[in-house]
Amino acid sequence: MRFPQSFGLAIACLSSATLLHAQEAGDHVIFISADGMRPDSVDVLGPEKAPTFHRLREEGAWTSNARTDVVYTVTLPNHTAMVTSRGVTGPEGHNWIKNSDPMLGQNLHKNHKGYLSSVFAVAHDNGLSTALYASKSKFKLYDISYDDRTGEPDTTGEDNGRDKLDRYVMESETDALVDQLVADLTSDPTDFTMLHLRDPDSAGHAEGWDLTPGSPYLQAVAKVDKLVGRVLAAVEENPALKDHTWIVLTADHGGLTATKGHGEAKESDNYIIPFYVWGPGVPAGKDLYALSSGSRLDPGTTNPPYESPKPPVRNGDAGNLILNLLGLPAIPGSTINAKQDLLVVEKRDVPIPPDPAAAR
Ligand SMILES: [Zn+2]
Repeated sequence: MRFPQSFGLAIACLSSATLLHAQEAGDHVIFISADGMRPDSVDVLGPEKAPTFHRLREEGAWTSNARTDVVYTVTLPNHTAMVTSRGVTGPEGHNWIKNSDPMLGQNLHKNHKGYLSSVFAVAHDNGLSTALYASKSKFKLYDISYDDRTGEPDTTGEDNGRDKLDRYVMESETDALVDQLVADLTSDPTDFTMLHLRDPDSAGHAEGWDLTPGSPYLQAVAKVDKLVGRVLAAVEENPALKDHTWIVLTADHGGLTATKGHGEAKESDNYIIPFYVWGPGVPAGKDLYALSSGSRLDPGTTNPPYESPKPPVRNGDAGNLILNLLGLPAIPGSTINAKQDLLVVEKRDVPIPPDPAAAR
């Protein structure tokens, strides 16, 4: 049965008026981690050499003063914080402190001595498709932790199976990795997609996190800007994705010029990272701390402990933010953004939790 076109349009308008974007079917999130990206590199590069990052800032909500984990400023512990929305250490932490390829038979749950849910698990259990495009081999940690043996049975609604990661692509050449992602975004996009780009970290270890114009490090950040630009173009060229896709971008750590490293968690240049959110309903050019002033506090130059009543924006916010954008609940057992109170859209139908500080 076919309706006249105007009837279909009326239905479409009605549904978009009664539903917030976050609850609409067909929404997508692309989560990008730029490994070792210092937020100040974007300022030094300027809009000409980093047009995409500047576009994300102009059209989205962002901060150049987000934080890593408190104790660790290295890659796998922080990426595990992003996907589980937990800190690294302590009984509620995810406890993955290694930063190399996982040993045979190891996985997140075995190491934690208990199942660790994640953004992949919650999205998949709720019927969404998931993908991870990684540029370092150690990211197989997530593939082996959420496969058809290690993933928990799906008890949410329809059974979508134990393998929570539908697509895992590892390619250390990030141009080729993004070629693959762009092809998939064009023909068969997943609902939740994570992309890891290693270039700033690789350049930083080779020549230092050097902000001198023309440095290998800045060139690597500019390359990531181009790659993210290709992802944005692919989103805008696919009618199924355009206006239905959020981009969330952050980093696992910054880095130092002097040591060509980033392991010292007390160094502000290691723990200060960017956090950008772009997409439908996200106000243009807004400071994330201003949008979430009831629940987040700009930490100045410190990296406050997890117990702080008003925490900073952290890379660990990402997992639960992504689920919130997709209209899904927080990750079971998570501790960062567990109330999903990092606000990136100005209008939402979920009541904002009361400010614990104001009650005292
Ligand atoms: Zn590194």
